[in-house]
Amino acid sequence: MTDKHTFRLYNTLTRQVEPLAPAVPGLLAMYACGPTVYSFAHIGNFRTFLTSDLIIRTARAIGWNTRYVTNVTDVGHLTEDDFADASGEDKMARALRSKEGQHFANVWDLARYYTNVLLDEWNALNLLEPDVRPRATEHITPQIDAVERLMASGHAYETEQGVYFHVPSFPGYGKLSGNQDADLLGQGVRDVIQDTEKRDPRDFALWKKDPHHLMQWYSPFGKGFPGWHLECSVMSMTYLGDTIDVHAGGEDLIFPHHECEIAQAESLTGRPFVRHWVHTRFLMSEGEKMSKSRGNYYTIRDLIAPESEGGRGVDPLALRYALISGKYRERFNFTLRHLRDSARIVQRYTEVARGIREAVEHDLPGPDHAGPRLDAVYEETLQALLDDLNTPVALASSLKGIKLIQGMQPLNGASARSAGRWLEKTNGLLGFIAAEEPRKKDMHADDGLAEPVDQLIAERNEARKAKDYALADRLREQIEALGVEIMDTPDGTRWRKRVDVPL
Ligand code: AMP
Ligand code: ZN
Repeated sequence: MTDKHTFRLYNTLTRQVEPLAPAVPGLLAMYACGPTVYSFAHIGNFRTFLTSDLIIRTARAIGWNTRYVTNVTDVGHLTEDDFADASGEDKMARALRSKEGQHFANVWDLARYYTNVLLDEWNALNLLEPDVRPRATEHITPQIDAVERLMASGHAYETEQGVYFHVPSFPGYGKLSGNQDADLLGQGVRDVIQDTEKRDPRDFALWKKDPHHLMQWYSPFGKGFPGWHLECSVMSMTYLGDTIDVHAGGEDLIFPHHECEIAQAESLTGRPFVRHWVHTRFLMSEGEKMSKSRGNYYTIRDLIAPESEGGRGVDPLALRYALISGKYRERFNFTLRHLRDSARIVQRYTEVARGIREAVEHDLPGPDHAGPRLDAVYEETLQALLDDLNTPVALASSLKGIKLIQGMQPLNGASARSAGRWLEKTNGLLGFIAAEEPRKKDMHADDGLAEPVDQLIAERNEARKAKDYALADRLREQIEALGVEIMDTPDGTRWRKRVDVPL
C-alpha cells in the first residue's frame, strides 16, 4: 500500500525474516498444504491453517490481491510418509478398516464425509475460503503426466513396485531442510519395508503400483495411485503457475514433503518452485506434539460441538482466538484454561460490538472522540501482523481499542460509528469478532430441495439394503444432479447443497 507497509515473514529456505515480495507486485500467489481427510481434523491442524488465513488477511489489508489455493489430500498419504521413501499403508484405506471406518460404505464415502466436516469447521472458525480447493483424486491425470515427464527427463525410474524420483538427479535436494547426508536419510527408513530395487535410499515414490488398492487408477506404469508429495507440486503449478510467492504448512512438512515437492517441481520446470516457505510450529499438548498417532489431541468437534452431542460447546471464535494467540513460529502449549480465558475476551468484544450498535441507534450528539485514536490502534495491530505475524502483539493492541471504547461512556453517535468501522477492520484482520448477522449462508437451507432429496435418499437406502449397488449409485447421481452432496455418516445419510469450487 505504502512504504510503511512492508510485510516481513520468516523464510525457511533462507532462514531469515524477509520482506514478502510477490513476483507480480500486489498479487500474492499462495499454496497451503491442506488436511488428509481420513478422520476429524485436530486443533493443531487448524493452528497451521490459521497461519495461512492470517497471511491472506494481512496481504489484503495492505491492498494486495490474493490467489489462495489449499488442497484436500484424499488419496496417497501413506502411514510411513514421515520417512522419505513413502512406504506403509494408505491412511485412507487404513481408516476404512478402523472402528469408525466401518460406518462407511467405501473409502470414497469416508473421504467425502471428512471433507465436508472439514468445510463446516473451516467455516465455523471463520477461515477465508480459498479461491480453489483442489482434491488430489480429481487431479490424477496431471499427476500421471508429471510422472511421465520426470521419467522422460531421467529424474524418475520404474521398478516392479512403483515409480521413484531419483534424488541424486536433483542436486538441490536438501536445500530447504538442510538434510543433505545420504546415510542419515537412509537410516530414517531403515525399519520400514523397502523396495530393494530402489537405486538410492532417499528416492521417494511418485507412483505406487497396487492393483488391489481401494483407490486406484490406470496409468502407463500399471494400476495404482500417486505418491503424496506429487499432488501438491502438481496442483500448485496447475492453479498458480511454475513459481509461487508463498507455500505454507506445518513444521513436520519441511522434510520430507516440501523437500520432495521442490525436487519434483524444479526438475519439471527448471525454475524456482517457491519464493517464500512458511512453516507453523507445532501446537503442543503437555509438552508433546499434538498428533493423532499420540492420541493427545482435541479435535475441533470435541471442543465446538454442543454438549448435547458430546462436545464442550466452546464458541468456535474463542477457539480461533486461542489458536492464534501464540506466535506461529514458536511452539504453543494448548490448555483448556487458555481456551476459557480466550472465550472471556471474545465475549468482551461481542459486548462492545453490541454497545456500539446501540450507541449508533441512540445517536447522541457530539464530536468524534474515537476515530483518530482507533485509527492509530488499527495501524499498530496491522504493523504487528506485518512483523512476521506477531499475533500476541496484534491481539494486545486491538484490546487497547476495546478499552478505549469502554472508557468513552456514553458513546456518542459519531464516536460509535468510528468504533464500528474500527471493529469491522480489526475483524477483517483477525476474524474472531462475532458479526451481527449469521456470517455465512446456511448450507443446509432448504430451497425446496428437501422433499425430492429425502425421497431419493430413502430409495437409495432401500437399494443399498437390497445390495443393489448399481441402482444405489444411479440414485446418488440423481441426487447430486440436484446440486447437493450426500454423506453416509454413522448417524444415517445427510445432505447439503454442493459448494462449487471456482476455477
Ligand atoms: P495432515 O492432515 O496430517 O496432512 O496435516 C495437515 C496440516 O496440519 C499440515 O500442514 C501439518 O503440518 C499440520 N499439523 C499437524 N500436526 C500439527 C500440530 N500439532 N501443530 C500444528 N500443525 C500441525
Ligand atoms: Zn502438501
